[in-house]
Amino acid sequence: MLKANVVNLHDFGTGNYKQIDDYVFGSGGMLLAAPQLKEALDSVLKPGGEHENFVAYPSPQGVLLNQEVIESLALQENLIIICGRYEGIDERFIEKYVNLEFSIGDCVLTGGEIPAMALVDALSRLIPGVIGKNKAVVEDSFYRGMLDNPNYTRPLSWEDMKVPEVLLSGNQNEILKWRRSEAVKRTLLRRPDLISRASISDYLTGGIYLGVIKNNDDLQNFNSPVLENLCNAFNLGRPFLIAHNHETREALKNSGTGAKILASVEKVLSKINSRTLIVKISASKRKGALQSLEAKRKILQHEGAILFLFAGDRESEDELNQISGLTAYLFDSVFINFGLDNLVAVTFDRFLGRR
Ligand code: SAM
Repeated sequence: MLKANVVNLHDFGTGNYKQIDDYVFGSGGMLLAAPQLKEALDSVLKPGGEHENFVAYPSPQGVLLNQEVIESLALQENLIIICGRYEGIDERFIEKYVNLEFSIGDCVLTGGEIPAMALVDALSRLIPGVIGKNKAVVEDSFYRGMLDNPNYTRPLSWEDMKVPEVLLSGNQNEILKWRRSEAVKRTLLRRPDLISRASISDYLTGGIYLGVIKNNDDLQNFNSPVLENLCNAFNLGRPFLIAHNHETREALKNSGTGAKILASVEKVLSKINSRTLIVKISASKRKGALQSLEAKRKILQHEGAILFLFAGDRESEDELNQISGLTAYLFDSVFINFGLDNLVAVTFDRFLGRR
């Protein structure tokens, strides 16, 4: 539930004129004064300390108000928005009591009321039931960090422009595919900067898979349950373990792994049953590899399945290098030699997670 209460700062003003502002030291403008703001704040604080209350101040100097910021503000129990006027509010009040300064864009308005209303409106959309169909919110721009697809209504033809045929087909699968691919095109064209933070799994229509090449039958440092959990967490199916030699396959089978064990990458590809883009992951920068954001863009443009492929041990690295596909590196300047499960976790978070 969202309940918005409006507090009139003048109720806490001083003197006959209920004054809440004063001259700015060193310039001619006016500023909302800290003592009156503090009294107003005290009147709406919930008992229970700092975890119960969150104070936001709309300000051109704040972080840009985007969907992620709104989603985290939606988690606050008692959100207090302090609207500035004139030159703003006394810096000491901001320092002591404001938890977040947010801006609605690189422009200056006369007051914080419109940004506050924009925030309340955006918060209300997140409450189930406010928007008729919750699905509509999920498809909105920025919900997954991507832009929405174009939308049409009747008439079917207007000024020689027709509604795209596929939307009239009644084939929900095809419609979804079209909408996702239009959203991808739009985001890549208009806001490619969003891709780094977007959650793209829903836009990859051919499925996403994890494959690990394992040529060494020593399983001491090989943690298959963690890989399976990671696949689960990111909605992938069971991982593929690829082992050429019989002993390694047997050792893997005996380890009780829930992964699928196959003898070659070709066998994996034949199971996936869709045009597959292989994405080989390396921790650090290397010749011919793409920076992960570039790789993420390529992945989004691919129509078909994505197979993230890793070397499960040193013995498998050469083989991985020889497989054709795209290589992506995760870290620019640091050399990190951490375990396979960490590498997979960073990869999934970087490519499929929302940030
Ligand atoms: N002197 C301030 C500055 O340059 O940062 C601008 C003050 S502005 C004229 C008055 C009030 O409008 C601010 O205190 C803030 O509450 C609100 N405001 C103005 N532009 C805003 C923006 N882009 N985003 C959020 N709030 C804004």
